[in-house]
Amino acid sequence: MASASTPEQVKLDKECELRVEIGPESPLRLRLLTGTAEIFGTEIPPQIWLSFPPSVKFAVFTWYGATIEMDGPTETYYTADETPMVSYVNVHAVLDARRNRAKASPSDTESSQGPRVIVVGPTDSGKSTLSRMLLSWAAKQGWKPTFVDLDIGQGSITIPGCVAATPIEMPIDPVEGIPLEMPLVYFYGHPTPSANADLYKVLVKELSKILERQFAGNTESRAAGMVINTMGWVDGLGYELLLHAIDTFSATVVLVLGQEKLCSMLKDVLKSKPNVDVVKLQKSGGVVSRNAKVRQKARGHRIREYFYGLTNDLSPHSNVASFSDLTVFRVGGGPQAPRSALPIGAEPAADPTRLVQVKIDRDLLHLVLAVSYAKDPNEIISSNVAGFIYVTDVDTQRNKITYLAPSAGELPSRYLIVGSLTWIEN
Ligand code: ATP
Repeated sequence: MASASTPEQVKLDKECELRVEIGPESPLRLRLLTGTAEIFGTEIPPQIWLSFPPSVKFAVFTWYGATIEMDGPTETYYTADETPMVSYVNVHAVLDARRNRAKASPSDTESSQGPRVIVVGPTDSGKSTLSRMLLSWAAKQGWKPTFVDLDIGQGSITIPGCVAATPIEMPIDPVEGIPLEMPLVYFYGHPTPSANADLYKVLVKELSKILERQFAGNTESRAAGMVINTMGWVDGLGYELLLHAIDTFSATVVLVLGQEKLCSMLKDVLKSKPNVDVVKLQKSGGVVSRNAKVRQKARGHRIREYFYGLTNDLSPHSNVASFSDLTVFRVGGGPQAPRSALPIGAEPAADPTRLVQVKIDRDLLHLVLAVSYAKDPNEIISSNVAGFIYVTDVDTQRNKITYLAPSAGELPSRYLIVGSLTWIEN
């Protein structure tokens, strides 16, 4: 344990890493004193203190040796000389060569497409971390790869319950993470795909369609390709959704972290596609496991961060609207057709993409709703979202709803989508 009063110095040999777990109470400051080092693919500047918020877990890795100084308490920290970083950077080198090849043939649609990498593996295998490293290394070399995050439980682009994409133009900041400027976000509304797997698939498809269109008109981002992060659910429905994502995004490289069985299953089903490489990679010993409670807490933190910023640097606004100013929809649920309209013996099936208008009442309290870009309710499923609001009060006497939004003023649309995403502000 590093104590709060005496900064601690740690010397790292080449190709070693310092793994740090910050406790839930206090932040930690860290700086690079000598040598060179990176945090998940992003080089850290010499001498400058970086301030990490509580509960963060990360590693400082050095290719050639470094001295690190830490100031503040940590839950644990230790150095490790066995890491899979060499194999990870080798993957980066192969991807880089493919990007160069794509750039060299801009006129040909097929060969001008850079690598489409999808990272798969069980929970806590380090998928988000590997995605981040591959993106930051690519950005350092001047590429602008697209990051696609399909992890609705612990995604890194926006709040939970969404599938999203954003171009990565600079190595990802070790403290701030992915910049939140204008990501392309589709709201699914639940932290697990089993709530409405068909809707999940539809939204993944919508996201891919838009990206495909963007790539068609932008040779630079086309050549840089994409890195797709996925959920840690790799059995049953989870496996089916992985195959769906591989297919939908036409992935050309599947990186499998830490599971032999998944790797051999994927190799087997994808062997008919010679242009898809399935590569097994070792999981890092530094990846920290998170139980259901910790995951739930992390989801709450992400929502809080959306409204208040990582370090309380944003000031969300509390707004009041009349019920008649807003229309709230839920996607899925209701039966597709009345029993009387079905052939004899057929059961009414729930239509996963049916829009159901929701009555505004106190059931919406503490729910996080998405603000759709749709101009018409028919466009809601296929529209991305502008942002989110959090319902703090519903007054059924006065027909007024009070909500927290990132800014004051009217919402960009009257159409809101509700799922099961709740948050208790604290
Ligand atoms: P999920 O299944 O929830 O999506 P994941 O497979 O994406 O998880 P990560 O989020 O990459 O896993 O890693 C889990 C945690 O471990 C994160 O807090 C991450 O910062 C931490 N971590 C990853 N690699 C290291 C490392 N080498 N040293 C220390 N901490 C690490």
